[in-house]
Amino acid sequence: MNRKSVVIVGDGAAGIIFANKLSKITDRKVVDITVIGPKKTHYYKPDGIFIPFNMRNYRQSVKGTNFLLDHRINRIVGEVTSIDIKNQNVTVNKERTINYDYLIIANGDRLVPEDVPGYKGEAEHFYELSDALHLKSTLENFHGGKIVVGQASIPIQCPPAPYEFSFLLDDYLRKRGIRDKSEIHYVYPINRVFSIPEAAGYIQELFDERGIEYHTLFNVESIDVEKKKLVSLEGEEVDYDLLVLVPPHKGQAVNTEAGLANELGYIDVDRGKLTFKDYDNVFAIGDATNLPISKAGSAAHYEADYLSKKIASETSGGPIPDDWNGEVSCFTMTGRDKGLTLHFFYGRPPLGSFSSPIDYLLKLSSADAYFTTMLRGAV
Ligand SMILES: Cc1cc2nc3c(=O)[nH]c(=O)nc-3n(C[C@H](O)[C@H](O)[C@H](O)COP(=O)(O)OP(=O)(O)OC[C@H]3O[C@@H](n4cnc5c(N)ncnc54)[C@H](O)[C@@H]3O)c2cc1C
Repeated sequence: MNRKSVVIVGDGAAGIIFANKLSKITDRKVVDITVIGPKKTHYYKPDGIFIPFNMRNYRQSVKGTNFLLDHRINRIVGEVTSIDIKNQNVTVNKERTINYDYLIIANGDRLVPEDVPGYKGEAEHFYELSDALHLKSTLENFHGGKIVVGQASIPIQCPPAPYEFSFLLDDYLRKRGIRDKSEIHYVYPINRVFSIPEAAGYIQELFDERGIEYHTLFNVESIDVEKKKLVSLEGEEVDYDLLVLVPPHKGQAVNTEAGLANELGYIDVDRGKLTFKDYDNVFAIGDATNLPISKAGSAAHYEADYLSKKIASETSGGPIPDDWNGEVSCFTMTGRDKGLTLHFFYGRPPLGSFSSPIDYLLKLSSADAYFTTMLRGAV
């Protein structure tokens, strides 16, 4: 029997979970699995909301990538520099060509702060480990003033993260006894405080309770560094002493160059099958897709589960899974000791109207569950 080669572009959450799941449920005599990506270490990004407030030791949020992959998976450390779906191959570091039977694109997205004039050296964020650590020391040296928190544009990874950060910031300033000397302002690109309408009203109530001010329909155009003002496309200006702004995101340039995506870089996939156009052996999962409810590790996890079962069924037998149903389950922080879980599917919005200590604990311990079970494909 011909061996089938499954090649995964990307060594982040989606790529690792998918590879480990597939490895567990396929006949490894007939399926070869290869993960290609540049990262020697894997960082659990959700801890980025805790690190600036010293709620998590960052060393616990990072593990060696090789250690996380099933030992039967081939690993190529490098960057995919071109993808040729007509000839079924990818090139690594512009020199090595790898052929595939199945291609899974899981190369995530990238931050493009340079798209906001004035950003560099002025705004801070918590979306990469080094930035979260930098913000931690900035906050330690903050003794009162006006902090503006928000996102430059849509889409971003983990849409709840800016509101979670705002609630934790409120707690942090209270704990340090400087909340009354500080203002928190939250800016958001659409005409409510969060994209999911079922949760937006509740988040807004919590903002009101905590004295967090909000500016909706605020799409960031630029930062006026001299005047210390954040300027929106809609013509509003908000001044700040400290600006915490999630930079704009784009998909990977290699996807655009391969003809898989427009200039924004997100791959247009079938929402149930995760295939690219009529290629039934080319898939995208995780943040690389332009699915409306992706950009969460949780979505990547459920997508990986569906896709591993589908490819296992085609290569090794077993039941054919139903199409992916758009499931996402996000634990989000609404303050010290309180959390809100957003669990939803295509066509079924989350409830999003209460906070509880259990949801808080689920979020706080999620890195441990992630590294021990989820990433390893055990759940
Ligand atoms: C602050 C923050 C908080 C978050 N909180 C949550 C949360 O609470 N819950 C939740 O579900 N999600 C959360 N997320 C989102 C979650 O981390 C992402 O959705 C998830 O990491 C997406 O997985 P991915 O594999 O698609 O992308 P990534 O994890 O970014 O992995 C992409 C990988 O592709 C590699 N790559 C890029 N280009 C190439 C190339 N050319 N060739 C080969 N490899 C390449 C990269 O090196 C990277 O390793 C959060 C994110 C942030 C930033």
